[in-house]
Amino acid sequence: MERETHILVITYPLQGHINPMLQFSKRLASKGARVTLVTTSTIRNSMQALQGASSVNIEIISDGSEGDENLENLIATLDRFKVIVSQSLAEYIEKLDSSNYPPKFVVYDFVLPWALDVAKKYGLDGAPFFTQSCAVSVIYYHLKQGTIRLPIEGPTVSLPSLPKLTIDDISSFLSNPSSYPPLLNLALDLFSNFLEAKWLFFSSFMDLELEVVNWMASQQWPIKTIGPTIPSMYLDKRLENDKEYGLHLFKPDVDACIKWLDTKETHSVVYTSFGSLASLGEEQMQELTWGLKNSSCYFLWIVRETEQKKLPTNFLQETAGKGLVVSWCPQLEVLAHKAIGCFMTHCGWNSTLEALSLGVPMVAMPQWTDQLTNAKFIVDVWKVGVRIKLDERGIATKEEIELCIREVIGGERGKEMRGNSIRWKELAKEAMDEGGSSDKNIEDFVAKLVCS
Ligand code: UDP
Repeated sequence: MERETHILVITYPLQGHINPMLQFSKRLASKGARVTLVTTSTIRNSMQALQGASSVNIEIISDGSEGDENLENLIATLDRFKVIVSQSLAEYIEKLDSSNYPPKFVVYDFVLPWALDVAKKYGLDGAPFFTQSCAVSVIYYHLKQGTIRLPIEGPTVSLPSLPKLTIDDISSFLSNPSSYPPLLNLALDLFSNFLEAKWLFFSSFMDLELEVVNWMASQQWPIKTIGPTIPSMYLDKRLENDKEYGLHLFKPDVDACIKWLDTKETHSVVYTSFGSLASLGEEQMQELTWGLKNSSCYFLWIVRETEQKKLPTNFLQETAGKGLVVSWCPQLEVLAHKAIGCFMTHCGWNSTLEALSLGVPMVAMPQWTDQLTNAKFIVDVWKVGVRIKLDERGIATKEEIELCIREVIGGERGKEMRGNSIRWKELAKEAMDEGGSSDKNIEDFVAKLVCS
């Protein structure tokens, strides 16, 4: 296949967006396309910890900051981001147009719907890439359509192709619209121009969300599931050179984690992480510490540097020998390790997909946005985990945490969940294997682009 089919893949500079879009880029490159992953200057400095992504070019364009922006600020200032980045993207496309590799197509992060307008200005087709589940996307679509009215009231919400959802299963900014206006505006904006896109790429796979995918297809949406977006080394051996995981925005403590896990028995460790953004209150950190300790399991806990001050002062003495706390880890390598018994997770979409694809059952402790819906599916649809119940203060108590861990790691139901997880792992692999549903979708996209 010729190499000049150049695809730009534009990602919002957050870890949970970069990871799946980079893996997707690698898959496109493996099908013969030239791919440039474009991100923005906010993460210029943190990206120094990145590990090479050999088959994909990386380009940084300006978002008006030079590596020092607080990421939460970034979400709050999406309007400014839009103005600056649409200008830098236009300049970048113009520059490429007069190079040897003019772009042929733009895949853009779903939170940047305006990137399609920029692409079209230069005669390019585009497709959004959704880094959230199909189910969550359909909920936001119904919000845009007015099928869901705000604030959400009543005990349940019924939407086509989805299980009945309670308020606890839906993003908090829908039940409480004034809680975080930038996210509500973002959710409303997502579907502003999506039918002008050539395709809709979803970081998910057919078997995982069959009913929702079928519903989307019945609406004539040009949907293509292309996940799970996991490096091929974890799923199959076809891309032998695909050794690196990706672009970390935090420095992973690889040796410490893996060496420590190597000393532990099979399925004996609780891996605990709340992703790259979530921040627990001090009281919650205390309860979590004692819940982990009282479970009597070994635990590997990711506490980002900015969160570490919330750890109880006597934490190290109290949990000596049982726990390892690091500020960031190579999560896929950790989840793939035989010592891991369960994953206590905030249910970010990537973490959820990674656990499902590696056969690890979960203790779900969602914090906000799509995580609440993901938790619902983890427990009631895919049946691979339990969800922590919050008390009247909104806190997960140490007793509840201990109970949930024991249930997943030791109990009878835990065995069932592990069995279900293994089944999802097989289906994830099948989707990405040669001729599998996601692999075919990627192949088809590149083939059509080459012929166009
Ligand atoms: N991750 C990692 N090391 C860690 C914690 C997280 O590599 O110590 C990765 C994880 O594998 C996932 C991403 O960071 O791909 C987090 O994305 P997710 O959607 O789960 O959560 P977010 O950070 O967006 O809330």
